[in-house]
Amino acid sequence: MPIPSRGYVLTEAGGELRPYEFNRRDVGEDDILVNLMYCGICHSDLLVAGNELGNANFPLVPGHEIVGRVSEIGINVSNHKVGDIVGIGCIVDSCRNCNSCGSGDEHYCESGWTMSFNAKDKYNQYTCGGYSSNYVVDHRYAVKISPDLDPAKAAPLLCGGITVYAPLIRHQTGPGKRVGILGLGGLGHLAVKFASAMGASVTMLTSSSAKAEDAKVLGADDVIVTSDTDAVTAAAGSFDLIINTVSEKHDPNPFLHMLKRDGVMSLVGAPAKPLELFAPALVMGDKSITGSMIAGIEMTQQMLDFCAKHNITAETEVIPIDYVNEAWERMRKKDVRYRFVIDLSTL
Ligand SMILES: [Zn+2]
Ligand SMILES: [Zn+2]
Repeated sequence: MPIPSRGYVLTEAGGELRPYEFNRRDVGEDDILVNLMYCGICHSDLLVAGNELGNANFPLVPGHEIVGRVSEIGINVSNHKVGDIVGIGCIVDSCRNCNSCGSGDEHYCESGWTMSFNAKDKYNQYTCGGYSSNYVVDHRYAVKISPDLDPAKAAPLLCGGITVYAPLIRHQTGPGKRVGILGLGGLGHLAVKFASAMGASVTMLTSSSAKAEDAKVLGADDVIVTSDTDAVTAAAGSFDLIINTVSEKHDPNPFLHMLKRDGVMSLVGAPAKPLELFAPALVMGDKSITGSMIAGIEMTQQMLDFCAKHNITAETEVIPIDYVNEAWERMRKKDVRYRFVIDLSTL
């Protein structure tokens, strides 16, 4: 029996989100049914919905930072039980046979992975995201969320959190390492919390002097306001790693100067316009610039376990669903500290 669901939908690029009723597939042998509690609002929701990536399929139910409670399980499911709090992030299916899937990198599945919204799934239907009352998902793509974490504040970990956790792990963040976090927003604020909990010395690099105090409260040891050219110059050769979360066009070169020899800048924002690179900023000092996109299910679970251990969640503004259009508008103006989360009990 298909499962009736209620949500909010966009029917055209640039339109307004409106209430919507639709059906989820029935709960198959490998599936779980999750009654949704909260869904974070990620910038990618806005990008896809505005068809800025040219891949939007309407009608479109956004949302990929999803937290809910398991209410039914298929007969093959043993890793989740009814009543568990689980998360659904970007990935809801992949081939599970290729090299990428074998190494836990389902988001690089060689047969193509299925995103939790706006993607054609193996049932030949477009996935509807988490701005909705429930979700049917293969149990292998749902992650466990500790009941000790506030489920509303945990939702943004499912995309925003893993986006910055993965490069921090890949580049061995820990005691003795100096890490710069460029940009204090949805991604940057979580990066500060993670890097600090991992034991690194953390410096927030922000264009906003108004956010400097916030950065300290979040766990930064130091703050450099990027318009302060003296402070920027003085920080030359300081960092082993800079996580660059800036999503619009900017000049990365002053920050490359801040890297130590062999230092790495990891891009996690994706500016649509090319960045200009001054090659000697990399050549002098054997430095690297690299990128990172979310991570697979295993590392996402590892991140959530790390969050439970260190009590890390996002700073959120929880909103009722009928505020979602205003929230999107405010996000376009960067008017949120630091993540909107929709309370789906208001549907
Ligand atoms: Zn996202
Ligand atoms: Zn695969």
